[in-house]
Amino acid sequence: MSGSLFDVYARSDLAFERGTGPWLYAVGDDEPYLDMMAGIAVNSLGHANPKLVEVLRDQASALWHVSNTYRILEQEALADCLVRLSCADKVFFCNSGAEAMECAIKTARRWAFVSGRPERTRFITFEGATHGRTMATMAAGGKKKYLEGFGRTLDCFDQVPLNDMEAVKDRLCPETLGIIIEPIQGSGGVRLVEDVFMKSLRDLCDAEDILLIFDEVQTGVGRTGKMFAYEWPDVLPDIFALAKGLGAGFPIGACLASDRVATGMTTKTHSSTLGGNLLAMVVARTVIEEVSRPDFLEHVRRISELLRNKLIALVQDYDHVFEEVRGRGLLLGLKSKLPIADLLFAMRRSRLLCAPADDDVIRFVPPLNIEPEHVDEAVTRLVAALKTVK
Ligand SMILES: *Cc1c(COP(=O)(O)O)cnc(C)c1O
Repeated sequence: MSGSLFDVYARSDLAFERGTGPWLYAVGDDEPYLDMMAGIAVNSLGHANPKLVEVLRDQASALWHVSNTYRILEQEALADCLVRLSCADKVFFCNSGAEAMECAIKTARRWAFVSGRPERTRFITFEGATHGRTMATMAAGGKKKYLEGFGRTLDCFDQVPLNDMEAVKDRLCPETLGIIIEPIQGSGGVRLVEDVFMKSLRDLCDAEDILLIFDEVQTGVGRTGKMFAYEWPDVLPDIFALAKGLGAGFPIGACLASDRVATGMTTKTHSSTLGGNLLAMVVARTVIEEVSRPDFLEHVRRISELLRNKLIALVQDYDHVFEEVRGRGLLLGLKSKLPIADLLFAMRRSRLLCAPADDDVIRFVPPLNIEPEHVDEAVTRLVAALKTVK
C-alpha cells in the first residue's frame, strides 16, 4: 500500500476499478463483489447509475463551478426541491456531513445571538453519536478515542445516554441552546431512537424554547424508507443536516433550517467556496427526484422487510453468533455476540461487502434500488462466510 497517504484509515488490501448497480469489480478480477455497504450509505442509486452519469456528463461539458458571489440557478432549484419535500424553509450547501453539522451548530449559535440570548451556547448530545471529524463535530460526538491527542476542542457539549429522558432533563442548564441527535445512530451500532423519546425531546425543546437538531447525514434521503427519518416519529427538527446519500457518491452536504431559526445566518456569517457547486447540484437533484417518488420509497420499505426477515431467521439459526436485528429501512444492523472483524473478512472472501458499526454490528446499507434477488444473494453469501469462521 502507498506510503504517501496519511495512515488514518484501516484499509483492507482490495481496490475496485468499476461498478454497476450493487456490483463492484476489483482491479483485474472479473468476479464481482456484492456491495451491501454502498460506500457507507452513500451510493444510494448504485454504481454508475445511467441517469446520474448522464446529468453529470451534461453538466460537466457546460459549467463546473462559479463563485457564490453570483446566483447559481441549479442551487436555487435543489434548495426549492428540498424545502418542498421537508419541514425546512432555508438551505445552505457545503461538501460533507461534518460541514453540514458544523453549519447546524453555527446556525443555532447565531439564532441565540440574534434573539438576544447569547449566553445560550451549549448542546446536549448522546453517547455513541457520530457527527463528523472537524474539531467541533468530533467534540459533539464525544468519543474519547477520537478526541485523544487533539488538545482542547469546543467545550459546549453535554453528553447523556440515548433514550434516557431523565438524563436529558438533568443536564439542561441556563446555557443550553439545543439538542443534537441522529434519528438512528448509524456508525454507533445502528441504535434506534425510540419514537416516544423523539416526541419528548420535541416537547422539551418547545417548553424551553431551545432547538432540536437532527443529524440525518446517514438516515436522510430515503435511507430509512421515508424521505427523512424524522417522518417515522413525525417529529420535526428546527435544523437538520444531510450529506452521504444526497449526492449518491458526489460530494455534497446540506444544512436545512426553518425561517425562524435561519434568521441569524445573515450576509457574510458563513460560506463555502465549493459548496453548491453545479456538478453536485445537478446530481443531487436527480437523486432527490428519483428517491422522493412514492413507489421508490415503497420499494425501499419492501426490500427492507425482506432483508430484515431473512436476517431475523439467521439470528434464530445462528443464535450462538447473533443477538438481534436493528434499524429501519435499508439501515439495518445485525448485532453479533462477538467482535466481527473475522466475520467481515470471511464475508469479503465470499464476495459480500458490509460495513461495521461499532465493534460488533454488521451494517447493511446497500444501494436503495437493489432487488429481492440481491437480498437472497447477500444472505446466501453471509451464510457461506459464517461456515468458514469458528
Ligand atoms: C458520516 C456521518 C457524518 C460525517 O460525514 P462526513 O461526510 O464524513 O463528514 C456525520 N454524521 C453522521 C450521522 C454520519 O453518519
